[in-house]
Amino acid sequence: RAAAPCLEVHQLTGFYNETQALHGIDLTVYPGEVVCLLGRNGAGKTTTLRAIVGLLSRRYGRIVVNGRSTEGLAPEDIAHLGVAYCPEERGIFASLNVEENLLLPPILKPGGMTVDEIYALFPNLKLRRKSPGTRLSGGEQQMLAIGRILRTGAKLLLLDECTEGLAPVIIDKIGEAIAALRQRGFTILMVEQNFRFASGVGDRFYVIEEGQVIEQFNRQAIDEDRPRIEALLGV
Ligand code: ATP
Repeated sequence: RAAAPCLEVHQLTGFYNETQALHGIDLTVYPGEVVCLLGRNGAGKTTTLRAIVGLLSRRYGRIVVNGRSTEGLAPEDIAHLGVAYCPEERGIFASLNVEENLLLPPILKPGGMTVDEIYALFPNLKLRRKSPGTRLSGGEQQMLAIGRILRTGAKLLLLDECTEGLAPVIIDKIGEAIAALRQRGFTILMVEQNFRFASGVGDRFYVIEEGQVIEQFNRQAIDEDRPRIEALLGV
């Protein structure tokens, strides 16, 4: 590969108090890729994303974002390296409207999108710009949650279960947005339970079990080896 990785995770371990959730995760993400973390509930996928953005204080091993080690860095310092995290619970402020939610994150890097650029990506949000967070559908909330992190100028986006609980027609729209973001040069690392969706948008896949990567493959392998991979994932 020509380009240097934008994310390297080497022998990452992580703890919640005394409980070890991650047991030595290794993964690499290159610019422009869509990479999916697959695996059962409780495998450690969310914890991996949280460790990368510094939200897991007890993390050990090596994480390098855009060439810089995140060791000892606080979440806000890691955000300045150009990575943004969209959590599963979305974090929409109910008392603020769509536009106010979009305007909350600071632009941390050149290339942070304007609200109009975000509306171009998610036209639904423009129609709902004055609606309060409480009045949004699940799909609108998810689009807002993804749109909002584009403000920061981060090119590496971590998305946690962005299709969960959404209707198929809305999942298709999220898939189109991810394709559009890739076209614009973004890199995406996503946790995804919906294997059908993941296998449509992802370039490469890591399967996590009990806090370790037990398998990795690319999209071509899914086409060639689908029964074995589906059995592995229990789908
Ligand atoms: P899910 O899709 O269910 O979130 P996951 O693969 O993302 O699954 P994690 O949420 O990363 O899994 O959880 C990994 C392990 O860490 C699990 O055993 C879980 O019970 C534990 N865990 C997660 N969050 C906490 C927490 N705040 N305190 C203690 N243990 C936690």
